Amino acid sequence: MVDLNLNYIVDEVIKRLYGENEDEGILVEASGRHVHLSEEHVELLFGKGYKLVKSRDLSQFGQYLCEEKVNLIGPKGVLENVSVLGPARKDSQAELSKTDAISIGINAPVKISGNIENSEKIIIATSMAAVTLQRGLIVAKRHIHITPEDAIKYGVKDNEEVSIDICGERGVIFKNVTVRVSDKFSTAVHLDYDEANACGFYKGIRATIIR
Ligand SMILES: [Zn+2]
Repeated sequence: MVDLNLNYIVDEVIKRLYGENEDEGILVEASGRHVHLSEEHVELLFGKGYKLVKSRDLSQFGQYLCEEKVNLIGPKGVLENVSVLGPARKDSQAELSKTDAISIGINAPVKISGNIENSEKIIIATSMAAVTLQRGLIVAKRHIHITPEDAIKYGVKDNEEVSIDICGERGVIFKNVTVRVSDKFSTAVHLDYDEANACGFYKGIRATIIR
């Protein structure tokens, strides 16, 4: 069966409206606030034996948005209805924009997703339970997921830092964008909402790698 979801259809319509094609740069995607949970924390927050329920697939292979939501509690506030991304990971972590983190009283460090060393404390809660992560809150460092073929095409290597140019009304050049190469990826720039808002993000906007 062909897996068509609404986002895919919207993306295709936008591509046709704007007449975009793959030669006009790398697709930019904006990641909202979210958490990744360990299996242990899934059970603590939702009940023994609980398994996350997939809501829809995300652009990166095997990653999906879940139906479950959590609240994130900091010293100065609560962010409600935060998305949970699956599948479960080894360590739980929360990824917020700087604006989100400051709004609940936390100065979270900028780190590549998955690197929670020296990250901040955060409480993750549901109506049933709460879990305190002594470390695990980060502001996700902007990055490009890129296939090995596209890495050759754009002349970049895994872990390299590049700048990207996003054109348009609020055009911005972002420095320090980490390149991540894997044959499991589909090529896309990932920004958080602070960055997306700063550059006038819309669905289908593209970025060019510059040096
Ligand atoms: Zn990403």
